Amino acid sequence: MKGLVIKSTGSWYEIYIADEDKTFQARLAGKLKLNKSQLTNPIAVGDYVIIEPENNINAIIHSVENRKNYIVRQSPKNRHQMHLIAANIDLAVLVTTLKEPKFKQGFIDRFIITTEPQNIPLLIVFNKADLYEKAEMYEFEKIKEIYEAIGYKVHKVSCYNNQGIEELLDLMKSKVNLLSGQSGVGKSSIINIISPGTNKKTSEISDHSGKGTHTTTFAEMTNIDKNTYIIDTPGIKTLTFNNLEILDVAHNFKEFFILSQHCRFGSNCTHRDEPECAVRTSSEKGLITFYRYQSYLSLLEEIDSQNHWERNKDL
Ligand code: GDP
Ligand code: ZN
Repeated sequence: MKGLVIKSTGSWYEIYIADEDKTFQARLAGKLKLNKSQLTNPIAVGDYVIIEPENNINAIIHSVENRKNYIVRQSPKNRHQMHLIAANIDLAVLVTTLKEPKFKQGFIDRFIITTEPQNIPLLIVFNKADLYEKAEMYEFEKIKEIYEAIGYKVHKVSCYNNQGIEELLDLMKSKVNLLSGQSGVGKSSIINIISPGTNKKTSEISDHSGKGTHTTTFAEMTNIDKNTYIIDTPGIKTLTFNNLEILDVAHNFKEFFILSQHCRFGSNCTHRDEPECAVRTSSEKGLITFYRYQSYLSLLEEIDSQNHWERNKDL
């Protein structure tokens, strides 16, 4: 029997069987439990799995179907392991805001590093537009220009006056949408508006009072209509990349990668001090935005220092 993973707690999975409009609580068959794998979890929300029911409620997961794509992040518990966040995504929606919590453009670039390796289309949503004044409006237009030029969509909404919400729904229609963002940007508020049956607690009620009552560490899938799904992921604190090498970052800055064919060292160029680097010269000429290049350099620096010990441990 084939089903869709709509929720996971790490040891239990909720599986939806569309044909029968029914769910099972399932656990993994022994052979699926990975021990030496780099992944902390072999199955994630969005996966299609083959299950064998034990009774009307419980089932065993025997295998996972091939994935169209997936998103992994460095495990918060073990930096040498990767956590599988979700699979089979049509659109990654990154929610952010220019008002509380403080906006960091670098966070967008970091998030892109998690979607770009799998070519997952990205929509960046700026929430709390009701609070934007002239300065924020100007900043929004500037950011929109930067990211749309690279090929990502940028949209602005407000959960308080509903501006942009209908367009957001249009952009998400008939897709499996992965919703991510730092806590406090208004992810739960957005889900409550576009999927009124869900009733997510917003952070005033749960998270801010110390150890939140709603601290899920796993993603969860809900549907807005028959073909439109939202995978809600826990608020991201920081995104770190112990698993990446310098060139992984270089290749996932899309506009840099395209330009690298004009670098002397081609796709092996790290775009720092190499002679005849098309990326560096383009940034000097303003053809690549200063911001993306700075953001890139700081990511490389971080990866260099983070992995220094590991790179040199055999010396
Ligand atoms: P989450 O942590 O990303 O799920 O964020 P929440 O949905 O819990 O929202 C965090 C805070 O931002 C709450 O106090 C919300 O009331 C507020 N908020 C959410 N959306 C908006 C908005 O569009 N405008 C304004 N002014 N506040 C918002
Ligand atoms: Zn270069």
